[in-house]
Amino acid sequence: MITCRELAESLFDLVSGQLPIQRREEIVLHLTHCRSCVAYAEGYRLTVWVAARLPRQPLPSHLLQRLESLFPGDQEGREG
Ligand SMILES: [Zn+2]
Repeated sequence: MITCRELAESLFDLVSGQLPIQRREEIVLHLTHCRSCVAYAEGYRLTVWVAARLPRQPLPSHLLQRLESLFPGDQEGREG
């Protein structure tokens, strides 16, 4: 299991696509257990990336809500 600090440092390589697959898996695993890092990763819009790679199980409700807030979808409403 990588540490929170290692995860944070790896995000840069992750978004640039230069991270080894094994490392990516470690990050996903960490994010499934560490809510603080999930919140941090949201700053990188990585929740979608993570969601696409999580094991075949429903996303936690709090994560779904976060995703919906970040990506409202095709709603045409203009808010603030
Ligand atoms: Zn963490």
